[in-house]
Amino acid sequence: MTELNLFNTLSRSKEIFKPLKKSAVTLYNCGPTVYHDQHIGNFRTAMTVDILKRTLLHFGYQVKHITNITDVGHLTDDVGGTGEDKMEVGARREGVSARAVARKYEKLYKADLTLLGNIPPFKWTRATEHIDEQIALIKKLERKGYTYRTSDGIYFDSVRDTDYGKLAGLKSMKLRAGARVDVGEKKNPSDFALWKFAAAGVKRQMEWPSPWGVGFPGWHIECSAMAMKYLGETIDIHAGGIDLIPVHHTNEIAQSECATGKLFVRFWVHGAFVIEGEEKMSKSKGNVKTMEWITAEGFSPQDYRYLTLQTHYRKELSVTIESLRAAQVAYNQIAEFIRNAPRRAGVVNKEKMAAFDCAIADDLNMPRAIAVLWDVLRGSDTAVNKRATILAFDEVFGLQLKRLKKDSADALPDVVKKLLIDRNNARANKNWAASDHLRSEIRTHGFDVMDTPEGQSVVRVLY
Ligand code: AMP
Ligand code: ZN
Repeated sequence: MTELNLFNTLSRSKEIFKPLKKSAVTLYNCGPTVYHDQHIGNFRTAMTVDILKRTLLHFGYQVKHITNITDVGHLTDDVGGTGEDKMEVGARREGVSARAVARKYEKLYKADLTLLGNIPPFKWTRATEHIDEQIALIKKLERKGYTYRTSDGIYFDSVRDTDYGKLAGLKSMKLRAGARVDVGEKKNPSDFALWKFAAAGVKRQMEWPSPWGVGFPGWHIECSAMAMKYLGETIDIHAGGIDLIPVHHTNEIAQSECATGKLFVRFWVHGAFVIEGEEKMSKSKGNVKTMEWITAEGFSPQDYRYLTLQTHYRKELSVTIESLRAAQVAYNQIAEFIRNAPRRAGVVNKEKMAAFDCAIADDLNMPRAIAVLWDVLRGSDTAVNKRATILAFDEVFGLQLKRLKKDSADALPDVVKKLLIDRNNARANKNWAASDHLRSEIRTHGFDVMDTPEGQSVVRVLY
């Protein structure tokens, strides 16, 4: 079997991956905070996790995968532990309860993931449904002397953890304790809240009783509590975006390892950002693009998925109309081939499959794997065998090529036929603006149009 090499943030190097237990690989990833639409950066990270999972499945492993839903109202300035509760902000914005906001955005998130072709996790775990587990973990830390109390909550004492900051190489954090940082009542800048007290006289929509008083859990504790509940005290792989390394994942490690005395996670896998210009795409910067934007611009979720596959997950990705258009053209060519190839069982090309395995085993090198797909497409195998090989690759890519149906021109609705004639005329007159406009209009009828040397070619949009 091909050995899978994964870049482990903990060791800052590629390591050969082997699961702890033969039965299944345990995989956890930090899911969304459901108070707003997710942006395409969040979805890129979710697709990276899915590609990792599909790669493990391809290499014959079983995978037990958990994703959390952060539906507890954390504070907008989580690092400082101040600011407003995100869920309450969402509730006020939409004039509904915090719970209703959480459920609405959870549903939208899952629907978009389905369109993008992600395999659902073994279990989605909501923070609000695991308050007892979070309290139990805090009690354990308290018994071991890792906590202290301030006027606004129970805090983790990071100096008591001799390994604190190992994931991010943050040893110097402790030195900053005396620096001029406003730490409030915290003993050290890197200490963090495990439990926050509800402010006196303020009734919050989301608050729970606890041994320390009514309040709500800190931001990090849910992931430790839920990951360990479902996957065990030591898990194989924990994934997320790189923004989570210095604080969230660092604190997950601190509280989990201090509670159990065991290694929390063997492999940390982090995906790079989707950027806008030079900056990270993020809700707080207000520079976000959503899946709605992708479709409004005339692209399908598969176009976006294909685009993400062309960049290694540890490299930044900039998503523009131009890059999406190039991805769409490439994806449509593959789709067109699959649609028209004879639907008979073929033989997978062993040599090409070996090259594919080699690419994905090298820290999930999807750009190289996509190049192998094009080799197959342009190669000399029969169409039946090419189709078999590409569909086998697609078990990892997740482009849902198997679902494509053969289209005949007769099956096109009249309105689309008419728009195609108009577009053909517009192009003959070099009226590119009209041609682009007609492409978008055709898209609204559920068809993508491509320009090939033989003229316009139409494929049905997948969803
Ligand atoms: P959040 O809802 O902000 O907690 O983010 C959910 C997931 O998306 C986390 O794994 C983040 O690391 C990831 N993420 C946030 N912003 C980006 C971005 N611009 N590009 C890629 N991933 C991101
Ligand atoms: Zn987490």
